[in-house]
Amino acid sequence: MDLTLNLADVPQNLKKKFLRKKLRELQLVHRVDKITDRCKTLLPLASATLKLAKKFFRCEYAALLFTDREARHRQFYLAVGIDEAQNEAALSLKELLHDAVTHRCQGQTVNQDQSEKSFPADYALLHFAVSERLSGAILVGGRSRPWNEEDLHYLKAIASQIDNGLEHAFLLQKYQRSRRLVERETRKLSFVYEISLSLGKEEDFTNLCRRILESAMHLVDVNRCSFMRYNEEDDELKTEFAIGIPFTKANMTFRMGQGLAGSALKEGRPILASRGGKDLRFIPFKDGNPDETFPSIVNMACIPLIVEGKPMGVLNFSSTEADYSVTPDELAALEVVSQLIVLAWQKQRLYNISIKDELTGMYSFRFFRQRLQEEMSRALRFDTPLSIVMFDIDYFKKFNDTYGHLAGNLVLREFAKILNESVRFGIDIAARFGGEEFALILPGTDENGALCVSERIRKVVENSPFEFNGQTLRVTVSGGVCQLEPGMMLDDFVKEADRALYAAKEGGRNRILCCSSL
Ligand code: GH3
Ligand code: MG
Ligand code: MG
Repeated sequence: MDLTLNLADVPQNLKKKFLRKKLRELQLVHRVDKITDRCKTLLPLASATLKLAKKFFRCEYAALLFTDREARHRQFYLAVGIDEAQNEAALSLKELLHDAVTHRCQGQTVNQDQSEKSFPADYALLHFAVSERLSGAILVGGRSRPWNEEDLHYLKAIASQIDNGLEHAFLLQKYQRSRRLVERETRKLSFVYEISLSLGKEEDFTNLCRRILESAMHLVDVNRCSFMRYNEEDDELKTEFAIGIPFTKANMTFRMGQGLAGSALKEGRPILASRGGKDLRFIPFKDGNPDETFPSIVNMACIPLIVEGKPMGVLNFSSTEADYSVTPDELAALEVVSQLIVLAWQKQRLYNISIKDELTGMYSFRFFRQRLQEEMSRALRFDTPLSIVMFDIDYFKKFNDTYGHLAGNLVLREFAKILNESVRFGIDIAARFGGEEFALILPGTDENGALCVSERIRKVVENSPFEFNGQTLRVTVSGGVCQLEPGMMLDDFVKEADRALYAAKEGGRNRILCCSSL
């Protein structure tokens, strides 16, 4: 029966039947309308519509596809009633719809002999314009009754009812996707900005590295991360810290080439193990116990850290949730992160070089001044005593002339060791002032205390003979002590201690004098 006719044109004897079918159509439209009211996003909308169609036509399956005519890769496809396992069937259904959209076929019905094996054997298929840009096709198929024009009419009713809803949902999805992209790009930018700021601050490498990695985890949506440092001498790649996973679990040691991390280090390029813990190179956690409460890794990225051509460590990013995995795109972002960490590492090394004296490994003059200024402010603010001591090795020129520069260097190193061992770790600061002059900063210590400390050091030096080329050699040191007084500037403070030192030299050497006693 032609359902497009006006009631007046329908023969009298068919009017009742015609009206019954029209009522069915109205009910169908009403139900689709309710679905478009309820479902504003693509998947629920398409899914509910197809389920309704399947029920309405009493058929086995229904499918819907639409594409953006100007960007064909933007496509939406959904089938209900088709078993996912029937891969080939699902694929041929999709192809059929795709052809219909591409060639904009008219509505068509196919009723093949069921004995023919091709799929789908019987169906009704309709091409329709979702909007000006979007082209769609809907198909219902698989039932014992043959398909006819009436079915196409009902399909048209469905299509004309969901087009607006589909377009709206499609645009919404597109908008949400763009928003996510923009958000991600913004996150990337703010991440790089933040890190560049922290690179400027003098911060310990491990702290900085941890902070960079914490931000990087947001960047790529992984839930675990660890940093392994490589020691070339022992060929040992060892976990230094981990985020999002107990350290006891993450604490692993590999050799170069071992495990995913070791492989990345050996190859000198990142590894993206999309099978995570199932990757053949993966080595499970130390205890190896299958732990029910401990989720397995579904995705892992290992990025080697190479500093000036030398392997320095590996960054591991992993995820235990299927939704969170590192994509090849994100791997590129993580490589930027690894470069930032290499930069932080180089910066730390340069800083260490700049504050440490090469021969003795002691703090340099530059660092001494900086710390002394800080300690002076602190002493004035909290009204606590602060003293400094200047040391100078006695007759050192003659010593060098007699035993040679190498023997002199050994003396400098030995004295540095004695100084370091005589002061409070983490409180006092010992520095090489230049040449054979050394200095101590003693916070919270008055002149008497400083005198005690330096006398002890003087005696240790006096009583510590050392061996050089089979000879037993000795040196002595002189020292000058000064306690900070209100109103003193840094240079005056140092000069006063120097004055005491010279007085000690004048007074016969191998002694310590305080500036207050001059
Ligand atoms: P005084 O008892 O008055 O201090 O006599 P001195 O010979 O030690 O005099 P002075 O402090 O002026 O001499 C410093 C000498 O220290 C000069 C130089 O030979 C030696 N010296 C400075 N730096 C180094 C160094 O890095 N290595 C060695 N081996 N010697 C150094
Ligand atoms: Mg000197
Ligand atoms: Mg000297």
